[in-house]
Amino acid sequence: MEVITLNNGVEMPQLGFGVWQVPDGEAEKAVTTALETGYRSIDTAKLYYNEEGVGRAIRASGLPREELFVTTKLWNDEHEYDKALRAFDESMERLGLDVLDLYLIHWPVPSRGKYVDAWKALEKLYADGRVRAIGVSNFTIKTLQHLFEETGVVPAVNQIELHPQFPQKDLRDFHAEHGIATEAWSPLGQGQGLLDLPELAEIGAAHGKSPAQVVLRWHLQLGNVVIPKSVTPERIAENIDVFDFRLDDAEMAAIDALDNGRRLGPDPATFAWMG
Ligand code: NDP
Repeated sequence: MEVITLNNGVEMPQLGFGVWQVPDGEAEKAVTTALETGYRSIDTAKLYYNEEGVGRAIRASGLPREELFVTTKLWNDEHEYDKALRAFDESMERLGLDVLDLYLIHWPVPSRGKYVDAWKALEKLYADGRVRAIGVSNFTIKTLQHLFEETGVVPAVNQIELHPQFPQKDLRDFHAEHGIATEAWSPLGQGQGLLDLPELAEIGAAHGKSPAQVVLRWHLQLGNVVIPKSVTPERIAENIDVFDFRLDDAEMAAIDALDNGRRLGPDPATFAWMG
């Protein structure tokens, strides 16, 4: 498995497994399949309500803890310093882990103005050795700059909506300039729509690969971390089988040209849902 070295030296698998919208009862099965198929990184969140199922799969796998990379996220109504520390403990309890690999602030919720407090709690957890790396999700250039100014600390990761139809070039360039790893959520554009485009089928045919594999390869060649989600065993296997081919410059450019500037998810500048 290819790895990305984060700005604190910690290595993170470049391809992992996302579990948003997988109910807790099904998460154990899906994550077990993913681990058996070779995935070593799992992306969950308090808000996904499946940390327990993820934890059960991790324990049942029998894999050494150091071979796994587990990410979870702090929810929007827990940005206060003490609440954030408590929320972390509760997530760890559900996951059944002592040390987490990556903890992210799920959304900045700028209208609440509390993400700097949340970040200070993450710094404390990092200093105490409870988590190996800390980062953010859905941060914009503006909220990242504000975080730098207030804390002087650069997050290891920013997990953002990113797929060929919404490639976030400016934010990716900003991350590269500041040593922040770009992690793509909804890397397959949530499946339908994007994966039906004939351009992707055509590129795939040239390599004997599916549209999903072409999209994941595009991400990997851009240097993104990707966390495709699937509950379908064949697709779970398909999505990790992307390390034996390479897209050339013309193919990368053809995929870049699919940009339509449209988000699938909410705008992080205004999103303030508390769940
Ligand atoms: P993805 O882009 O990973 O797409 C998932 C969808 O595509 C599912 O419907 C899945 O179907 C389908 N699919 C998966 N593989 C294939 C394939 N090979 N061929 C055809 N269809 C396929 O969407 P997500 O929104 O789930 O994003 C991935 C992860 O990113 C999430 O699970 C979560 O961990 C994270 N995320 C983070 C957010 C944040 O705010 N930080 C927001 C959203 C997501 P099926 O399962 O039925 O096989």
